[in-house]
Amino acid sequence: MAVRLQTVGPHVIVVGAGIIGASIAWHLTRDGASVTVVAEENGGVATPCSFAWINASSGNPDFYFHFRRRSMAEWKRLATELPGLPLEWCGSIGWDLPADRREAFVAEQGAWGYGIEHIGRDQIKAREPYLAVIPDLALSVAEEGAVEPVAAARMMLADAQARGATLRNATVRGLIRTGERISGVVTSAGVIEADHVVLASGAGTPPLTASIEIDLPIETPAGLIVHSRPHARRLNGLVLATQLHMRQTAEGRIIAGSDFGGTAPGEDQHATAAALFDKVRNSLTDSPSLAMDFFTVGYRPTPKDGFPIIGNACDGLYIALMHSGVTLAPLAGLLASSEILKGEADPMLAPFRLSRFA
Ligand SMILES: Cc1cc2nc3c(=O)[nH]c(=O)nc-3n(C[C@H](O)[C@H](O)[C@H](O)COP(=O)(O)OP(=O)(O)OC[C@H]3O[C@@H](n4cnc5c(N)ncnc54)[C@H](O)[C@@H]3O)c2cc1C
Repeated sequence: MAVRLQTVGPHVIVVGAGIIGASIAWHLTRDGASVTVVAEENGGVATPCSFAWINASSGNPDFYFHFRRRSMAEWKRLATELPGLPLEWCGSIGWDLPADRREAFVAEQGAWGYGIEHIGRDQIKAREPYLAVIPDLALSVAEEGAVEPVAAARMMLADAQARGATLRNATVRGLIRTGERISGVVTSAGVIEADHVVLASGAGTPPLTASIEIDLPIETPAGLIVHSRPHARRLNGLVLATQLHMRQTAEGRIIAGSDFGGTAPGEDQHATAAALFDKVRNSLTDSPSLAMDFFTVGYRPTPKDGFPIIGNACDGLYIALMHSGVTLAPLAGLLASSEILKGEADPMLAPFRLSRFA
């Protein structure tokens, strides 16, 4: 049975309730659309497995660096519109880069205005007094931070609902095409029609676009992250040690991977997690009761060239698929809403169109 909802603004279906779907749904609702979110998992699939570091760190070309940095500022704007978002601008200290990459990072991103500082042993010790081994030199970036991504996604969804959005727990099985336009979705709970459909469905997106012969060139590398039981404060910020990236969450869990993207799980995930957690324990002093609670294995939705895919794929269909989705969620939501509802295409989106793969 087809359900046509009564709409005030245009009716937009957002498929996906991870950090990207939640942000897009929230911005669309705030901007006057009538929004229906359809998702299997409220809070996302990759999102709960994320390290959730907000950054514009090393290795990003200028257009992508500026996009990420703008999104860092958008997190601050979003926090004023949604007070209580679990964000922490705790800063990072890192000594994981080889000397040549470290100095290239300082020279390049520093010249673009990123606040990178060299700090020595005493400053490192003062910042992170529980580190068992203090390096001679680290890079400090005070403007970086982290967010608790599932809690943030759920807050955005709850606020969108309070503003009139509808949440449906269902599987999207296909897209409805009317002439050249996508006009709705077929779900496990029936058909829903809309003026626009947004796919913010992470690694679940390619099968949906394949049904209308749109190929999404993505990879989904696996990353394992260990989570300790909640513990008294042992880390004050993001620590990017060689082969060990760690932070302590709002509820006191120390989470870690061999880098922020997680550790390759290998054949025996439990053994990989146990070995990784031993490294965490050995890297901190005065933590005899630190114990692993669980580990996650997430699949990072990553377009093949590493950059986001954001924009219209055809009439009525918008796609938002990216790695670093935790960093990019507020900007992706803001720009997607503006483009869908007002037809305003922000110039910063130009490098991120699907058409670049054509
Ligand atoms: C190990 C790891 C570490 C990471 N570290 C960082 C980091 O430090 N910083 C950073 O910025 N990013 C990081 N990322 C990336 C970031 O977590 C992701 O880019 C982001 O979570 C993607 O969010 P999403 O909402 O697009 O997808 P997801 O969270 O995967 O959500 C997809 C949503 O779509 C729904 N869905 C999919 N298919 C269907 C369907 N057919 N029907 C109905 N619903 C459907 C799902 O139920 C879910 O709600 C990391 C990721 C991983 C795995």
